[in-house]
Amino acid sequence: MSDDIRLHAHLVGRQGSRADLNTPVLILDVEALDRNIAALAALTASHGVGLRPHAKTHKSVDIAKRQLDAGALGVCCAKIGEAEVLAEGGIAGILITSPVAAPRAIERLAALAARADGLMAVVDHPAVAERIDAMLGAERATLDVVIDIDPGIARTGVASADAAVDLARAIAALPRLRYRGVQYYCGSQQHIEDHAERRAAIVERTDYLNSVIAALADAGFAPDIVTGSGTGTHRIDLALGVFTELQAGSYVFMDKQYLDCDLTGDGDAPFETALGVDARVVSANHSGLVTIDAGFKALSTDGGVALVRRGAPESAFFAFMGDEHSALIAPDIGRTLAPGDPVTLTVPHCDPTVNLYDHYHVVSGDTLVAIWPVSARGRAR
Ligand code: PLP
Ligand code: MN
Repeated sequence: MSDDIRLHAHLVGRQGSRADLNTPVLILDVEALDRNIAALAALTASHGVGLRPHAKTHKSVDIAKRQLDAGALGVCCAKIGEAEVLAEGGIAGILITSPVAAPRAIERLAALAARADGLMAVVDHPAVAERIDAMLGAERATLDVVIDIDPGIARTGVASADAAVDLARAIAALPRLRYRGVQYYCGSQQHIEDHAERRAAIVERTDYLNSVIAALADAGFAPDIVTGSGTGTHRIDLALGVFTELQAGSYVFMDKQYLDCDLTGDGDAPFETALGVDARVVSANHSGLVTIDAGFKALSTDGGVALVRRGAPESAFFAFMGDEHSALIAPDIGRTLAPGDPVTLTVPHCDPTVNLYDHYHVVSGDTLVAIWPVSARGRAR
């Protein structure tokens, strides 16, 4: 039995101490999480807009349930494997936001459509729509779909208004697909740090979205659902009023990348940092540097460096040292910290960091109150 599982057993009906946990460990502050969930639920509701938060961020049945309890329409999933796990966990109203194109994945999509409540998927090509429709026939199921519109990054989505109309016609001709609307996710704009610059970029991109929606409406395909947006642009998108539902994901946790962005335009932070990694000093034999037990396997490396949140000076410079270790560098840090001392880090980028862990260790202050699985960990296909 692993230490954590033993602790889990011990936690049934009792609580534990965060300080007892072996490190590195993924820590989730449940009160901050719930405040973030409530804040975006209230904000979207006050605009009369729906919320279908992206679960690629957390991959967790427990967190998805909290979002649904707070009024979410469902959740988004990036891949069929993620959707299968969350549907199995009782989550309804899942939208799969990446095209499902591999033959085996289409089979699983059709099978999931037959058993999952309110499943939706995006499509961006008539040939794939046809394959999905054929596979739905084998399952005697139907599926609601939205057309993914490329916001200009050439990742996924139809590349023009004409292509959107052609695809809407193709979908309308297929008996088992039901056209519901469009998806538009401006991934390149989410992390523009300056608010005015981000707003200007989104205003320009929204003009394009409106032109595609107008073309669809002219052809008799006015969308019921316009889904998209993220943590970076949620306020701007709510003010512009085009989306019927938002897909923000990272807001539940907040990572360093998003802390670097002015999300409100006045420097106020609308969400709290709920996620962290607790690590420990494992070596302190130099005055200006200590080594901690969290390296590439404990923190994703695509989003820059981690930040020290607690246990060492916030000004300490973080440097990845390798698979297992990082350095915290500051004058005299090796004289003030000793092997075994705990530090809490704010993660550089939340989604890929979460995918490195089997469990969330859920805390209230310094009390461990639950251990939740990262239910869809590794479900990349
Ligand atoms: N929607 C889609 C299609 C995404 O790919 C993502 C994240 O990458 C999101 C929504 C959530 O965005 P964020 O994490 O910036 O809130
Ligand atoms: Mn992300």
